[in-house]
Amino acid sequence: MKPLWQWNLTDIVQALHRGEVSSEEVTRAFLERIQALEPRIHAFLHLEPEAALHQAREADRRRAKTQDPDTLPPLLGVPMAVKDVLTVRGMPCTCGSRILEGFVPPYNATTVQRLLDAGVIILGKTNTDEFAMGSSTENSAYGPTRNPWDLSRVPGGSSGGSAAAVAARMVPAALGTDTGGSVRQPAAFCGVTGFKPTYGRVSRYGLVAYGSSLDTVGTLTQTVADAALLFPYLAGFDPRDATTMDVPVPEVVLSQEPDLRGLRVGVPREYFVEGVHPQVEAAVHAAIRHLESLGAEVQEISLPHTPYAVPVYYIIAPSEASANLARYDGIRYGPRIQGETMWDIFFKTRGRLFGPEVKRRIMLGTYALSAGYYDAYYAKAQKVRTLFRRDFERAFREVDLIAAPVAPSTAFPLGSKTQDPLAMYLEDIFTLPANLAGIPGLAFPVGFDQDGLPIGMQLMAPPFQESRLFAVGHAYQSTTDWHTRVPPLHP
Ligand code: GLN
Repeated sequence: MKPLWQWNLTDIVQALHRGEVSSEEVTRAFLERIQALEPRIHAFLHLEPEAALHQAREADRRRAKTQDPDTLPPLLGVPMAVKDVLTVRGMPCTCGSRILEGFVPPYNATTVQRLLDAGVIILGKTNTDEFAMGSSTENSAYGPTRNPWDLSRVPGGSSGGSAAAVAARMVPAALGTDTGGSVRQPAAFCGVTGFKPTYGRVSRYGLVAYGSSLDTVGTLTQTVADAALLFPYLAGFDPRDATTMDVPVPEVVLSQEPDLRGLRVGVPREYFVEGVHPQVEAAVHAAIRHLESLGAEVQEISLPHTPYAVPVYYIIAPSEASANLARYDGIRYGPRIQGETMWDIFFKTRGRLFGPEVKRRIMLGTYALSAGYYDAYYAKAQKVRTLFRRDFERAFREVDLIAAPVAPSTAFPLGSKTQDPLAMYLEDIFTLPANLAGIPGLAFPVGFDQDGLPIGMQLMAPPFQESRLFAVGHAYQSTTDWHTRVPPLHP
């Protein structure tokens, strides 16, 4: 039998139901794994091992007492982690920033509340680029997370802590957020499965806002089946988030038969261009051929506005960020640097406690929104954003799904892009379009490069067609084994 820490979420849920294992055993196995590996990986910003074990024992007592196991919360006693931009009542929420150091939110994010209602035990909060701004987790004020496949490399970002924690099998699953790729890209870099829902499908209440029109809450798991398992708990209308849609959340039933006949898969030519690592390209092509071997019909498509993704996103996201981050003023949340006047407090607190990337974004955004530049930058970017939506609408008239690389490269060395913001932004080119258009995406491992680093592929679907992503991703994983590989870490 595999050691408990290697079990995926689905295995754990089933074994708990059957009484084959206790929540305490499961929780302890992951906590031990964290204790052994965390000094090298630094996936967490906060951990509550004692509280977690206490909750695990409670869960076991509750399960032992019940007459009717069907009345128990379905995920009772399952350990998970949460990215530190989502609020968990009573746990510090820093967003990877000094400006929120010591801030303890008094409420749960809706996604967190729903997991808790389902019985999940939250072990802790995972590392992130400051306010989720970044693609490598190096912008965390609390130090970078390392890639479990190669400790000298980044795990991707900004949900790098969640991705690394799942890859290193320190937790079976974690929440992440994806504003411009922050679930899918770290999933690809760490060899795990990253799921980003349709914008409006999952509540943002309790997600500390970065780019509000782009932000989504997603999952990092070992498998597509695990992502599909969590999805119904997270999805659905929330009166506390006016952008959530009141549309039914379909029950996800994954077929045992990997049969993709009748499925039309589009391969966008703009995603296979110069600059994409040849081994990434080769692995994604091989994965697409694999879908074909399962019966899918593959055709080339065009998403002509792809080259504009970086400039458009890096105007819209910083513009929204500059407005959203105005609330960190040294008065309302977190630490304060004292000053003579109110303005003095604002300047000192914001000046000293925001990191360089956050300041850069605030300046970019403030500039793009200011009178005289608004039309040329922000309004223009919004218009081009509509063209992204049209690109996808047109494509989805011809195909059911789009398959593409997640990122142009595999995980890069720590420090290699920190001095060059534009090089870092260019990493996001293939993930940004789904956020600009609001469509769902699913990233999963499809191979390794010659250095032993994971390569990811992403599938994109029309709005609210998440179940199509799960069906196809699951068909792929039930006939391949990339997702079962574990990084060679020795505790
Ligand atoms: N890397 C992108 C950025 O820095 C996306 C981040 C995210 O999705 N949160 O904005």
